Amino acid sequence: MATTKADAGPKPGVVAALVDAQRRGEVTATALVERSIAAARATQTLNAWTHLAADKALARAADIDRRRSRGEKLGPLAGVPVGVKDQIVTRGIPTTAGSRILEGWVPPYDATVIRRLEAADAIVLGKLNQDELAMGSSSESSAVGPVRNPWDPARVPGGSSGGSAAAVAAGVCPVSLGTDTGGSIRQPASFCGLVGLKPTYGRVSRHGAVAFASSLDQIGPLGRTVADVAAVFEVIAGHDPQDATSLTAPVPAMDDLGEAVAGLRVGVPGEYFASGLDPFVRAAVDGAIALLGANGAEVVPVELPHTRYAVATYYLVATAEASSNLSRLDGVRYGHRTVSSVKDIGELYARSRAEGFGPEVKRRILLGTFALSHGYYDAYYKKAQQVRTLIRRDFEQAFERCDVIVGPTSPVTAFGLGERLGDPLQMYLMDIYTIPSSLAGNTSVSVPCGFDPEGMPIGLQIIGPPLGEGRILRVAGQLERLLPADERKPRVYAEGC
Ligand code: GLN
Repeated sequence: MATTKADAGPKPGVVAALVDAQRRGEVTATALVERSIAAARATQTLNAWTHLAADKALARAADIDRRRSRGEKLGPLAGVPVGVKDQIVTRGIPTTAGSRILEGWVPPYDATVIRRLEAADAIVLGKLNQDELAMGSSSESSAVGPVRNPWDPARVPGGSSGGSAAAVAAGVCPVSLGTDTGGSIRQPASFCGLVGLKPTYGRVSRHGAVAFASSLDQIGPLGRTVADVAAVFEVIAGHDPQDATSLTAPVPAMDDLGEAVAGLRVGVPGEYFASGLDPFVRAAVDGAIALLGANGAEVVPVELPHTRYAVATYYLVATAEASSNLSRLDGVRYGHRTVSSVKDIGELYARSRAEGFGPEVKRRILLGTFALSHGYYDAYYKKAQQVRTLIRRDFEQAFERCDVIVGPTSPVTAFGLGERLGDPLQMYLMDIYTIPSSLAGNTSVSVPCGFDPEGMPIGLQIIGPPLGEGRILRVAGQLERLLPADERKPRVYAEGC
């Protein structure tokens, strides 16, 4: 009976299995890292990595093995190899954010999330490829070439955290970190059959995340199971005095993932099932909602009436903030500087930036500069901020009637490489369902809910109110158990970790 199955709790996590196997002496951290490195090399065609930090990772693994043999108490992620999106700053490991402008930059410090991972004895395996400076939905705008989807290498893995999704889906490492500004964790998770969590704005420190749109950016985990994502979230979340927008609320232990959904009110917004939604995505999402309903959840219709303005609002707010944030990348402080002879500092900036930024980043800087310019600020930027407030209120009102909101993560499944590059507007619409909760600052997770007839994964999005991570992960964990088991593996897959 389905309810009995639900009561059994979420799928066992890969992370917990790896930690336990080391504790029992069945495997060493060194062996795990070696497996991951071999798998990364075996799946090289995916172009998921910008930098594999093999030597550093092996040295850390040896240290962890040594500490274990001395009987020291190790952290909750001991010996677990983790991939990190190149948008996140890592001391001594090149950090380019997928851009030529940061070529050659080796940061002198670690992002807070890296310090926390390492304090938990996780091992940073290397840096993951992405859309340039996190701008995109397909991971095709990287300066080092596109990432491929392990389920079908002729297709995109989603973006901008495409490498973070591809590496985990291909079996290289059990978990990775991505960043999500308008959907960049959730959408690639959905395209690659993974769980991906965008935490509440302020829940995870942004210190050391290369800034794209500061009022929207969040770091979060991707993994193959809900339990894995919860395990990493617990380690990286929590107050950080180095991030002025960091929340002080304590992070509860995510130990209720096994609780059943009975009595939970699941809100379904009609606006998320509009035209443009692929019928197979719709069918899978409808099926998942019906399953929650059959297991005791109360399915209630809710309204998010300002959803139709979300994409336009996002592309004003995000580009405006990006144009300001990216002014620091000027060829002087970090990364690429032109080698051509220049007559003054102005030309040095202009040339370095012209050479360092790709076309999508330039387009965003132009859009954002325009939206902030004198005479247009009120008409565009200020108006966008006002609409953003309306979108946030939509959610506040909806959450008076339900506990979580569910719908599709993306209107489509993974599309072909190059298919949408010529049409930026089409690409911008990829995030139509993920952007609203980014603008509202609440939390959401994408969890696999089926496949299309071509075998491409489909993701269900579960949105919670601010600080609702425990609640949405609980629903995600239940769904993971309720859905029929599907042991399909991606076409490009290696037995790493
Ligand atoms: N695809 C969206 C964009 O291009 C979101 C990117 C992100 O979340 N970093 O801006």
